[in-house]
Amino acid sequence: MRDLCLRPRPDASLQILCLGAHADDIEIGCGGLILDMLRNQPAASVQWIVFSGNVARAREARAGARSFLGGARRTRVEVHRFRDGFFPYQGAEIKSVFEKLKRTIPAPDVVLTHYRDDRHQDHRVISDLTWNTFRDHLILEYEIPKYDGDLGSPNCYVPLAPDTCERKAANLMKVFGSQRDRHWFSPETFLGLMRLRGVECRAPEGYAEAFYARKVVVSLSVLA
Ligand SMILES: [Zn+2]
Repeated sequence: MRDLCLRPRPDASLQILCLGAHADDIEIGCGGLILDMLRNQPAASVQWIVFSGNVARAREARAGARSFLGGARRTRVEVHRFRDGFFPYQGAEIKSVFEKLKRTIPAPDVVLTHYRDDRHQDHRVISDLTWNTFRDHLILEYEIPKYDGDLGSPNCYVPLAPDTCERKAANLMKVFGSQRDRHWFSPETFLGLMRLRGVECRAPEGYAEAFYARKVVVSLSVLA
């Protein structure tokens, strides 16, 4: 196991593209990474794209982004209105959004997206289109705990401080009122998963978020 550091290129700030099928996906999957990254690299640029949401959910999506992006200077939030649960049947329209993203955000340093083998059909569509669209980029696939029991064995970990994890769980509970009565939507679920991932990577403070990094191109000169 070796630590890799993601640093901005000399001529630009770090550029992160976050993709989520529904309001709350990005926050659950990589909210800790975002909080941590913005604390360490406040000049980073974050593009936050949510693909579905009725009026109430779109409002939650924007509030969720605000609560995780805080006062970051360079952020953009985009919420689309594709129908929740029907992404496989709206593929052409969703693909058009990705084609536009490729033109407007051609070179993100990291793309955060859904896990390829996620059992939610909407999540898989976003994951597949991410790989179709961004072919020369670092893509990290995040995980969403759910009834279907589709958690696997991730291979990329971001250790987190306990206060970052607490803040992530608190933000989720505060912002996503429409989800609070779901049996799985609780601070214990979010903190428990991050604690388990922390065990798997021997995180210094016990917690981590985990990702699937299917392809990573390493320049040894950068590591030297
Ligand atoms: Zn979702």
